[in-house]
Amino acid sequence: MSAGPKRAAVIGAGLGGLSAAIHLRLAGFDVTVYERNDQVGGRAGQLEIEGFRFDTGPTLLNYPWVFEELFAAAGARLSEHVELLPVDPTVRFIWPDGEELTLSSDLATLAREFERLEPGSLSALTAFLADAELKYGIAMRKLGVRNASGAIQWLRGAGLRELLHTSMWRSMRSELRRFFRSPRILDALGSYAMYLGGSPWRLPGILTILPYGEIAYGLWMPRGGIYSLVRAVERLAVSLGARIVTGAEVQRIVVADGRVCGVELSDGTEEWWPTVISNVDVPTTRRELLTPPSAERPPEMTPGVLTCYMGLRGRPDGLGHHTIFLPFDSRASFDALFDEQRVPEEPAFYACAPSATDPDLAPPGCSTLYLLTPVPLIDRLPQTPDPAWPASLRDRMIARMERHGIAIPPEQRACETMWTPHDWQRRYRLYNGSAFGASHRLGQMGPWRCPNRDRKIGGLYYVGASTTPGTGMPTVVLGGRMTAERVIADAH
Ligand SMILES: Cc1cc2nc3c(=O)[nH]c(=O)nc-3n(C[C@H](O)[C@H](O)[C@H](O)COP(=O)(O)OP(=O)(O)OC[C@H]3O[C@@H](n4cnc5c(N)ncnc54)[C@H](O)[C@@H]3O)c2cc1C
Repeated sequence: MSAGPKRAAVIGAGLGGLSAAIHLRLAGFDVTVYERNDQVGGRAGQLEIEGFRFDTGPTLLNYPWVFEELFAAAGARLSEHVELLPVDPTVRFIWPDGEELTLSSDLATLAREFERLEPGSLSALTAFLADAELKYGIAMRKLGVRNASGAIQWLRGAGLRELLHTSMWRSMRSELRRFFRSPRILDALGSYAMYLGGSPWRLPGILTILPYGEIAYGLWMPRGGIYSLVRAVERLAVSLGARIVTGAEVQRIVVADGRVCGVELSDGTEEWWPTVISNVDVPTTRRELLTPPSAERPPEMTPGVLTCYMGLRGRPDGLGHHTIFLPFDSRASFDALFDEQRVPEEPAFYACAPSATDPDLAPPGCSTLYLLTPVPLIDRLPQTPDPAWPASLRDRMIARMERHGIAIPPEQRACETMWTPHDWQRRYRLYNGSAFGASHRLGQMGPWRCPNRDRKIGGLYYVGASTTPGTGMPTVVLGGRMTAERVIADAH
């Protein structure tokens, strides 16, 4: 096969890979996406058991504008392909003593909640939102989503005043403390750090854009679940002419004289490509798809997760769409997970009851329940783990829910399955079973994150959670555009 410059293979049909494929097709590239599984979407997959449909990974969709822009780039309208249902109140936090905080995109409702926990906090809330809005603009429109050749060029993407505003050097917790005193508000807004692989006492202050983004842009649920959005993105890629081959595992990226020249599939066939974009987790790509494996040190990763998917008869009383059960002592819980690499005594966890927004995800009269709790990475789990550990952790979550009056008795459970970090690793080749990819500590953000173009191998690029700009559905979709821009610029 001829190796013209405008030809690219994408390994993996995660959202980042699909986004890169779309942007490359729009630039006239001949694109094939190789996906080892039978379905696309990667972590954002779908599981169907006995008529119950579960989103496997992401359940909280924010920044719908990113998906609108993706469709608009192809001259299409997202709203004609997916119906986005608003989820408001967005997230409810519950503490062991029964105290609660419910977030909402409705500012009057939000202000009432903050006022209840911290009397007189209205001006602090207003100041926090204004401050985080500026940070969000700097991160999402300037620093975070532009390719740069190095730290200096990256920093030049924003002015000095804007850089000072990012609070990169301050921790997320101390940034929040500039506005709030209530430990409950601080714990709730700081809990978002978990998704980015650190504690709010360690991750940089700019990450206050996470709770801000959820409040300002709301949470959304595509009708039919997150997977219907993934399918829409897949259809968009195919309609533009991208070839997506499922059940096609790449076992090696073929490199000669320091340049990529193709991929070798697990059946031994070799296909020739001048450009290869790996949507496989970066450290997995480097260790398993390159021969010899790259000697580069793997990045620090976000934790693993235990996810439980339950089909229920009826609906659990008192459970809204998104609920986060926080411990009494957030600091101890974060330290156990990130410093001591063990399951905390009081695990924080997330419960998702999407049937509250879209009842059609379950058979009539039934509902689905998804539980997620962070756990250590595979190399920190016991070598021969007690096979009962997932069930016992699930029981602890259910017992905690029961203490808050949300009962999930065994007879209500029509079906159930659980995925440990080993399952996540096996299915999607997630390095060390890390759920969200490389962590977002300061040394792994912006120009210090694994770049989307390999430093040593010509024609090899990366896209997805562990490269730049980072993890999360909207972020990897933006990353797909950035990687495509690199490839297109290099082809000229
Ligand atoms: C449990 C969980 C909950 C999450 N919750 C949220 C949330 O609520 N909101 C949010 O925005 N984000 C969430 N995320 C993060 C989000 O899902 C990810 O950041 C994003 O989906 C990752 O996309 P990606 O482009 O990195 O591709 P991935 O999803 O990592 O997909 C990579 C693809 O490559 C394929 N592949 C691997 N090896 C090969 C090979 N050798 N050959 C061919 N194909 C291969 C895999 O099968 C997979 O399909 C969550 C993640 C997890 C795991």
